[in-house]
Amino acid sequence: MPNPKRRHSKTRGRKRRTHYKAVAPAVGLCSNCGEPKMMHRVCPSCGYYDGKSVTIPKGKN
Ligand SMILES: [Zn+2]
Repeated sequence: MPNPKRRHSKTRGRKRRTHYKAVAPAVGLCSNCGEPKMMHRVCPSCGYYDGKSVTIPKGKN
């Protein structure tokens, strides 16, 4: 098993992680109901994806 020869400093790890950025979620509008929804996800308000009803949304029965 390869193993690190020396421990590196807290600063070194933290400096590497300065490049880690939070990414804003891709939000779009549902083509069925027009509500804002996350892209590439089933619409939480109507349960549609790609023009088809995929799920029954919770709390709306
Ligand atoms: Zn919808």
